Amino acid sequence: MRKKESTTWRAFKLYHSFNPKYFPLMFLQIFFENAAPYFTLWMSSEIVTALYQGRRGRELYLLIGMTLVGNLLIRILGAALKREAETQHTLLKNNEAAAFNAKTLSLDYDQLENPEVRRHRRRIIENSYIDNYGVGFLERPFLAFLFGGIINIGFSLVLFAEMISFLAAAGFQWTGLLLLAALVVIRVINLAAQSRQSKISAMASEKISDIMLKENRLTRGQRANNMDNRIYKQQEILKGIYESMARMHLKATREGSGLALKAYTPVLLTEKLSELCSYLLVIFYCVLGAFPVGSVIKYVGYLNRMCDSIRKLLLCGPYCKSNEPFLQVYLDYFDIKNDMYQGSLSVEKRSDKKFDIEFKNVSFRYPGTEQDALQNINLTLKVGERLAVVGENGSGKTTFIKLLCRLYDPTAGEIFMNDFNLRKYDYRQYLDLFSVVFQDYKLLALPLGNNVASAEAWDGEKAERLLNEVGFGERYAGMPRGLDTPLYKDFDEEGVNVSGGEAQKIALARALYKDAPFIILDEPTAALDPVAEAEIYGKFDEIVGDKTAIYISHRLSSCRFCDKIAVFEQGKIVQVGTHEELLAQEGGKYAELWHAQAQYYTEKTA
Ligand code: ADP
Repeated sequence: MRKKESTTWRAFKLYHSFNPKYFPLMFLQIFFENAAPYFTLWMSSEIVTALYQGRRGRELYLLIGMTLVGNLLIRILGAALKREAETQHTLLKNNEAAAFNAKTLSLDYDQLENPEVRRHRRRIIENSYIDNYGVGFLERPFLAFLFGGIINIGFSLVLFAEMISFLAAAGFQWTGLLLLAALVVIRVINLAAQSRQSKISAMASEKISDIMLKENRLTRGQRANNMDNRIYKQQEILKGIYESMARMHLKATREGSGLALKAYTPVLLTEKLSELCSYLLVIFYCVLGAFPVGSVIKYVGYLNRMCDSIRKLLLCGPYCKSNEPFLQVYLDYFDIKNDMYQGSLSVEKRSDKKFDIEFKNVSFRYPGTEQDALQNINLTLKVGERLAVVGENGSGKTTFIKLLCRLYDPTAGEIFMNDFNLRKYDYRQYLDLFSVVFQDYKLLALPLGNNVASAEAWDGEKAERLLNEVGFGERYAGMPRGLDTPLYKDFDEEGVNVSGGEAQKIALARALYKDAPFIILDEPTAALDPVAEAEIYGKFDEIVGDKTAIYISHRLSSCRFCDKIAVFEQGKIVQVGTHEELLAQEGGKYAELWHAQAQYYTEKTA
């Protein structure tokens, strides 16, 4: 029981932190919604009693006037509160999405790539589509039940005291209480039926959510291989799978709604029976003369509202329980801990950019795999050096960079920067030392300036100079809005589409703009032909100046200008040297690859 409460409460607190204005406003709105009907009940009862007692004229008109004006005010205030609550709700959802994203970005890199964590994230997104479950339950239903119930019971107690005092005056208090007890019994049965119904609905929702998860995965997988789908006519197989999924979905929905309907029948019956009882109860005492006639409206209304509130309050527990798994999934995501050790040693801001790196007996194995991706790597990198990392696909080049940028920590061995293990450094400051253009770099559908600067504001002169230097100048000159030109058309009709080659240049300019001491190109040009890649690498090297640069390629010609070339083979460094030295080593991997690739090069590059 304690655990249940704490899950809901913890989720509630987390949600409240996304927009601290939302819940107080919601309390106010629920208070208002629940208090307003008592005004109408009370005024109607006064009017009927006045009519019955023959009180006409000014007094009656005053009562009617007050009712109308009161109701008008209630509506205006209610609408204003509703509008403000909706605005704050939008803000809450935006902040929630931002917090969710921030959490995702703060995860350790291996967690980010972990399929289990990805599934977890998808589950939360899919759960959010189920109305009134998960955090959706906290947004309103939970408060409406709990707080609404408490308010109603508070108001009802006042009326209850008045009713009992009338009954006592007429000498009927005991039979009155007895009938009231009967009413409560019917409501308890009603409650049990409701609780059963909510459990059945939750089970059905969970089953549907499982199917939705599978459907979404299938859709995503299919989208990613759109070309293959066409070429290999995969539609036929997919169509079959889709149809069977759709059938499962429909079956689960039907079964769910069938069960829910069956479970709802006793709920409805007992509800109507209790309404009937309250009418009979109040009319009976009215006929006996215990109450004035107008009280029929007031007391019947109140009895029903009171029963309803007790029901809601008592249902809060079962509802919280059935909602708990959804909230747990949500909270668990925010609870994922960063396992990667984060040191506090501050990275010196050196104007001489003297950051020397040393890999000492470094091995690395990806989580959940059987083989080392890197084995016993020993390498030093001095300030201002040009290091080439070459080797066939899958030889461990990117993994080496991931370790250097501390996206992963070595499984064995150590990496040092200026004689301190990388783990000792403040992680964020350490990351600031690197500019990497990965093979699967991404540009944002935002203005060009934002893309180059990777920030909201940009230094126009610097951005333009770099775009020119990387060879984007001509295209840039044709952009009427300059750095304000949005890329792609996702958010702006006037956005421009850039080709793959142009996007690469922007990505290169972005890497240079960061002005980090280390700059790394991890085959962003893999889609280009070897000659074009060699040209880009060579030209880029002229721009990088005194930075330490690392060039990665499976094509040796692209990196031959480097001071130091490390040849990777099956996770090991098998040779290190300059192009000339390595080529001279007959029978070495470098010479083997060079000769094998020579046929692709023109005379210009070879
Ligand atoms: P390269 O950059 O030289 O093409 P990688 O460093 O990408 O090679 O890969 C080295 C080895 O590690 C390969 O066998 C590859 O399959 C494996 N590998 C790469 N990334 C992952 C990952 N995220 N999880 C598991 N294995 C991986």
